[in-house]
Amino acid sequence: MPIKAILTDIEGTTSAVSFVFDVLFPYATRHLPDFVRQHAERPDVAVQLGAVRLDSGEPAADVERVIEILLGWIAEDRKATPLKALQGMVWQQGYEAGQLKGHVYPDAVQALQQWHARGYALYVYSSGSIQAQKLIFGCSEAGDLSALFSGYFDTTSGPKREAQSYRHISEAIGCPVKQILFLSDIVEELDAARQAGMLTCGLARDGGELPGHPNVSNFAEIDPTTL
Ligand SMILES: [Mg+2]
Repeated sequence: MPIKAILTDIEGTTSAVSFVFDVLFPYATRHLPDFVRQHAERPDVAVQLGAVRLDSGEPAADVERVIEILLGWIAEDRKATPLKALQGMVWQQGYEAGQLKGHVYPDAVQALQQWHARGYALYVYSSGSIQAQKLIFGCSEAGDLSALFSGYFDTTSGPKREAQSYRHISEAIGCPVKQILFLSDIVEELDAARQAGMLTCGLARDGGELPGHPNVSNFAEIDPTTL
């Protein structure tokens, strides 16, 4: 059965891992304190500050204390929901101000554009929030790529290393697993997608090997008609 949809990971696949760890997260950490001070009264921000007070068991924490708590969570790499939401708001402001531009490898931009033009439905599955995914592609170094994508999935569809998540995504897309090609740089994710019945292709951009799957070093080597 021919491939109809292509589902891609972001970090290490369409985009450099270093963009996330050396650009995005440090940007959020640097701008979070002033962002919270300036927007503490904004309803969507106030809701998240309230959630921080609740989660930390400090209902009376003032704004400066909430900032301290948030920076503590960042330091211990705690994936707290209000922290993720606030980081997303800081990134959005950064992208809108033109201070951040999403990194997408040129070979990925070109292939995604070609596949879209040939009628493949393109989807993203990343552990970053859907909001963050949309910003990377919507405000990328190559311009607004959001028109290429038919949908976005994050870990609310399930963990990336579990086959069930890929079945959920197939149902959500409305396309049989056998007609979906999944692209990733992590072998456990490729294994889970294959276990669910998807076709797979591993991106070994730094020359490593993803055993048990077709391997390519960039998107130009991927031919969906022969996989
Ligand atoms: Mg990855």
